[in-house]
Amino acid sequence: MTQPAIAIRDLEKTYAGGKRALAGVSLDVPRGSIFGLLGPNGAGKSTMINILAGLVRKTSGTARIWGFDIDEHPRNARASIGIVPQEILFDAFFTPFETLELQAGLFGVPKAKRRSMALLKAVRLDDKAHAYSRTLSGGMKRRLLVAKALVHTPPVLVLDEPTAGVDIELRAQLWEYVRELHAGGTTVVLTTHYLEEAQELCDRIAIVDGGRIVANDETPKLLATAQDKILVVTVDRDLDAAPEGIGGAVEVKGPRTLAVTYDKRQAQAGDILHRLNEAGLGVVDVSTREADLEDVFLKLTARAA
Ligand code: ADP
Ligand code: MG
Repeated sequence: MTQPAIAIRDLEKTYAGGKRALAGVSLDVPRGSIFGLLGPNGAGKSTMINILAGLVRKTSGTARIWGFDIDEHPRNARASIGIVPQEILFDAFFTPFETLELQAGLFGVPKAKRRSMALLKAVRLDDKAHAYSRTLSGGMKRRLLVAKALVHTPPVLVLDEPTAGVDIELRAQLWEYVRELHAGGTTVVLTTHYLEEAQELCDRIAIVDGGRIVANDETPKLLATAQDKILVVTVDRDLDAAPEGIGGAVEVKGPRTLAVTYDKRQAQAGDILHRLNEAGLGVVDVSTREADLEDVFLKLTARAA
């Protein structure tokens, strides 16, 4: 049986100040997947990534990358992963070409096997190969970081919030390139707090909240767990309060507008409209909406107020 690209077990991290960022995370990233780590700010996503990168020391638990335990075989583990960090940190005095050559040197890639120009071309920075990195725009720097993460041709690429503060066009380019890499066999992990992004790109999503995994499934299955349907109804007279006995959770949205959230396995829109009629309300207009990943996310990450 092939090992997962990444296998994390009971991973815990408490920072020096006492903040418990990871409270026992177990997670497998299958080889060949585009895996989304989705969660609100402060959920622990970067902490997890930085432990894999060898930048943060875990408190306890284990992690394997491409079968290599990060404690027992740190060099092999690090050689198996390329990480695009959330923060843009730069050697501002090197050109993009030099930056990649230097990184290749750090990973012990022999000169004959380096592919700095090819990588710069792939991220559309070949015309900037010999410009000072500090003259690059934010988007160009982000692309250079992607190229930098790939110099040693790792089987796993991790992007930590790659599109935070990135414009729409660049975002589209970045995803095109990520899809290309994935098609070429690279396993991709990305963290994001953009739901649509995860929903669109990832074949599997784990939702992280408060240092724990609260969901982890194939994207379509995760979406299928959203069993709620929302019925928005305009009625023929002003409402002072939500009518009772309608079924589902009723919310007054406007003087004559109601939103009824119900479980589609237990009720149908017709039943709800019928009950509204019985409550003496004439229905003027109706629309429905299926729950989406955002609803799943909100439900799972909702904390007691
Ligand atoms: P995410 O990437 O999901 O936004 P992080 O892993 O960056 O979350 O942070 C998780 C929690 O750990 C947050 O409460 C954050 O403030 C805290 N944290 C992150 N880095 C440090 C650090 N170096 N020292 C202390 N606390 C930290
Ligand atoms: Mg982060």
